[in-house]
Amino acid sequence: MGLGYLAGALLSAGYETEIWDADAEAGYETFEERLKREPVPVVGISSPTPLIVSAWRAAATAKQAGAITILGGPHPTLMPHESMEKPQVDLVVRGEAEETIVEIMRLLERDPGRVLHSGDTAIQPRRFDPAAGWGDVAGLSWRDLDGEIHHNLDRPLARDLDAIPFPAHHLFKIERYTNLNPLTDGLDPHARAYTIVTSRGCPYKCIYCSKPITGHTWRARSVENVIAEWRWLVEDLGATEIGVTDDVWNLDLKRAKALCRALIANGLNRVPWITIHGMKVNHTDPELFRLMKAAGCKRVGFGFESGNDRILREVIRKAQTVDMARQAVRWAKEAGLETMGFFIFGMPGETEETMEQTIRLALELDPDLAHFMFATPYPGTELWKMLEAQGRISYHDVEWGQMAIQDDHAHFEVDGLSREAIERKWHEAHRRFYLRPRRIIRIVARRDTWRRLPYYARQAAAMLFGLGERR
Ligand code: SF4
Repeated sequence: MGLGYLAGALLSAGYETEIWDADAEAGYETFEERLKREPVPVVGISSPTPLIVSAWRAAATAKQAGAITILGGPHPTLMPHESMEKPQVDLVVRGEAEETIVEIMRLLERDPGRVLHSGDTAIQPRRFDPAAGWGDVAGLSWRDLDGEIHHNLDRPLARDLDAIPFPAHHLFKIERYTNLNPLTDGLDPHARAYTIVTSRGCPYKCIYCSKPITGHTWRARSVENVIAEWRWLVEDLGATEIGVTDDVWNLDLKRAKALCRALIANGLNRVPWITIHGMKVNHTDPELFRLMKAAGCKRVGFGFESGNDRILREVIRKAQTVDMARQAVRWAKEAGLETMGFFIFGMPGETEETMEQTIRLALELDPDLAHFMFATPYPGTELWKMLEAQGRISYHDVEWGQMAIQDDHAHFEVDGLSREAIERKWHEAHRRFYLRPRRIIRIVARRDTWRRLPYYARQAAAMLFGLGERR
């Protein structure tokens, strides 16, 4: 969606733009082949932490093909200097970048930068003339003519989200995408699945949560603005499934209900939608779930995280309790919605007993899907700072590619609990949740289980028993 928004901003400013998603292109064309087929003057690359090494590789490929390279997204926002020190990276954009990218393009027309020729063939970064105004672009990191790296002031968060052009949904080769990860199980694997962002940011401060782009200030689009984009997806682009991917879409209960009512009034409730990220359980009531159901919602995700109130309150600082989770799930199920829960293993302060409580909560709530994850310390989070202060983690020896919540290895040990003990409990959670007889019957009875049997077999071997590689 980040790329979609930037492409939307560039198109509205009159720049020819293409989205090239390496995952969607796998098996069709490599990045190198794409650049050879038709050279491009500027390549922007977006990267979360686990993909930063691939992003640097892609930047080197683009640079060798003669393009100016710009990196952005969560990881370069948190650690801009690290990327600016790579010779294949010309510019780094930090934070929300719809305005920044357009300002950069306008400046590049005046000053495309220059490369010092040292006589060798090594990749050289571009240097820019301060007189062109590079120092005035908020949220930009760049190199001056002497090679000195500058990090301009941060760009304030966009206040009026309605003023931002819609993401360029039409540029995605949507037929190459599967349905809405991670809530895919049981959804149509051949859906034309689009995502939509109705608000940005979240005021909560859960210690593991990394939201460097959207920030701590919750900002909502107007209901009318969201409906206009939703209508485009359904009526013009043929969406058959939509995923709401806000940080926390239901923060304002009144607005969430108004959005549901507007979907019904506009007849957009005929296309099923889900909340991809976990809804916040303490901003719900029975009426919200009933309205969501009437508005076409099929499945809701919840961030339950832990079955222990001490971990929730004192460690994670989630500002919710186990009882609130119970209540929200009951209301959602009563409204006829499918449910999905996120649970975290291996937070600081965990014991065998607290992880056992998390498993028992998953069994008790019995969502249609349970997504068990390992605590993952993303840079910039409180969790990272806590572990760094304890000497358990450092910027020097971390492998960014391993920093994925979907990984099947614990990322650190906690007092009294080895990584192996955490991983054992994580596998146990999968076994106890998914190997219950009625679960197995439900999965076996589904048609898509048989269509995707090899995939399910691999997943099951990895998650239930730690065999092979999880994909
Ligand atoms: S985990 Fe969810 S509720 Fe917590 S800070 Fe992140 S977005 Fe907000």
